[in-house]
Amino acid sequence: MESKICRKCNQTKELSAFGKNYSRGVIYIRNICLDCYREAKNATNRAYMARNRDKQKVWQERHFKTEKYRQTTIKRRAKYRNEMAEHFLKGELKRVNKFDEQTIKNNPELLEFKKAQLTLKRTLRELKNNQ
Ligand SMILES: [Zn+2]
Repeated sequence: MESKICRKCNQTKELSAFGKNYSRGVIYIRNICLDCYREAKNATNRAYMARNRDKQKVWQERHFKTEKYRQTTIKRRAKYRNEMAEHFLKGELKRVNKFDEQTIKNNPELLEFKKAQLTLKRTLRELKNNQ
């Protein structure tokens, strides 16, 4: 397996740990590893966001505070609620049952219990409504 030394963290890593750049029809392997690249990129993005708070606010007003976006969000949340997606169950455990992130991570069976609880609740409600 070929390996390369990262210019930033000076660690020897496999080539798969490096990103690639495509330029003029040639593929170049970057000189810094993906972890360092991501870190640098995040720092750049955070600095840009800090410098351009006002621009960001204007953009958010235009894209997120519209009726169309609100409707899409409502639809998306309803879908996750109906499917009982994992992050939805986690949110319910935190919001309703007051568990913290670490407790949920240490006890993954809590998600199953929550799912069973919600299924029971929904089935009972459905039976009641159909009477
Ligand atoms: Zn590195």
